Amino acid sequence: IPDVTLTELLFGAAPSDAPALIDPDGDVTTRRRLDDRVRRIAAGLHARGIGQGCVVGLFAPNSPGWVAAFHGILRANAIVTSANVLYTADELAHQLSDSRARLLVTTAGLLDVATAAAEKAGIEEILTLDHAPGHLRIDSLPGAAPPPLLAGPGDVAVLPYSSGTTGRAKGVVLTHRNLVANVLQFSRMGRTSADTVLLAVLPLFHIYGMTVLMNHALHQRVPLVTMPRFDLAGMLRLIERHRVTKLYIAPPTALLLAKSPLVDEADLSSVELVFSGAAPLDGELARAVARRLGCSIRQGYGMTEMSPVSHAIPQDRPDIDPASVGFALPNVECRLVDPVTGHDAGRGELWVRGPNVMSGYLDNPVATAATLDAEGWLRTGDIATVTADGVFSIVDRVKELIKYKGYQVPPAELEALLLAHGDIDDAAVVGVLDEEGEEVPKAFVVRRPGARLDAAEVMAYVAGRVAPHKKVRRVEFLDAIPKSASGKILRATLRAAGQR
Ligand code: ATP
Ligand code: MG
Repeated sequence: IPDVTLTELLFGAAPSDAPALIDPDGDVTTRRRLDDRVRRIAAGLHARGIGQGCVVGLFAPNSPGWVAAFHGILRANAIVTSANVLYTADELAHQLSDSRARLLVTTAGLLDVATAAAEKAGIEEILTLDHAPGHLRIDSLPGAAPPPLLAGPGDVAVLPYSSGTTGRAKGVVLTHRNLVANVLQFSRMGRTSADTVLLAVLPLFHIYGMTVLMNHALHQRVPLVTMPRFDLAGMLRLIERHRVTKLYIAPPTALLLAKSPLVDEADLSSVELVFSGAAPLDGELARAVARRLGCSIRQGYGMTEMSPVSHAIPQDRPDIDPASVGFALPNVECRLVDPVTGHDAGRGELWVRGPNVMSGYLDNPVATAATLDAEGWLRTGDIATVTADGVFSIVDRVKELIKYKGYQVPPAELEALLLAHGDIDDAAVVGVLDEEGEEVPKAFVVRRPGARLDAAEVMAYVAGRVAPHKKVRRVEFLDAIPKSASGKILRATLRAAGQR
């Protein structure tokens, strides 16, 4: 792995007139225009005193301007903290003050939330990506030339926040070296060709989209179509229009691709490969997507703390079960540690070490010490298994295993089973307390429109297919399963609702 910054890796070569970014209206940003814009943004930020060690908040939906701002901030030797566009003003204010951001970059459509958050966090200046009265655009600040490259590979590049699935989102310290490592590690699994077209339907503020879509596309010099927010019909239209070849998604989108009637009306013949990450993907569901689209399907695994990818099924290995997460990426070392005995085992908590692993949580030595040991091993908090050939499968999160009468019940397994039922469109299983205060598995189920499935039938369906301790003991029907922007089931929300 070359010892360079992300800026040097991605912007070191001479620019060309090849398309780099395409917005939903079809407006093309060439590589040359992107490089100019990055330099102009860096020059403007530099003239305003933003440089090494300064943190800039980026709070906006996907767009070519987002990409230019992200790399312009890095080119100014500064640090990006990218925020979830669904955040409330309080959530955004927490991230901005926690990361000590000096400046906030947003869009006209998010100015209300951004302004309230900036005020709380003591940030005086808000710049925008687009036109907004009373605000300066980040790419039209006065500035003569970009500063010299002062940031080094060991300097902090981004402070993304984890998804907040198991508690409050944590600031993750990622250096240029971490991000460079993961772009290169991932490129060995996700090869591109001359006609590759990618679609940024995943949010770029989250580390998955940031590395696997944005930085990967810039590194491979393939066009990236940006989509500001997810909607299935819009995604299908963009795939058709731009002949998208590889689709990086999270499981909720896989579910729609397998089950929505809209898919039958779209021409998805350009799609060669669907790649899912961020949450468990069931094998049946994976095969259903591949069959319906006539494409291959692969899965990968990662976490914000690993920049994010540590495991993936290589593109050229159709023989690997898509329910697994494939092999460890190059330079990634793995251990499976039994959470009870602390010994290495065939099934246990996955520990990872490698150049893509974070240096720690921001200003949080307690959380860092609980996650990273002195030898550089990161405890992922996920339970995994591995085959003799080195193929890993994620069983579930340590924290989310339901403890039923001393047995461990992995909700992901029950969810996969429920999703395979023809009358079930979506499902989630969490542990709730019964009358005796014992934890029991409860299923939240979204029925297929028109289906007449009842709770007893759901329980009987599961009971007929699993060991007795894994039976679902409560069922509630919902209109939709609450999910995060990065595609994860919001279990805390369900647990709180389900106890009533
Ligand atoms: P927080 O750490 O704030 O509670 P989070 O862990 O959900 O939130 P992310 O870093 O976005 O935040 O997600 C990483 C987690 O996502 C992993 O630890 C794992 O539990 C889950 N995950 C990612 N990919 C997969 C996959 N392919 N299969 C199963 N789980 C996955
Ligand atoms: Mg986590």
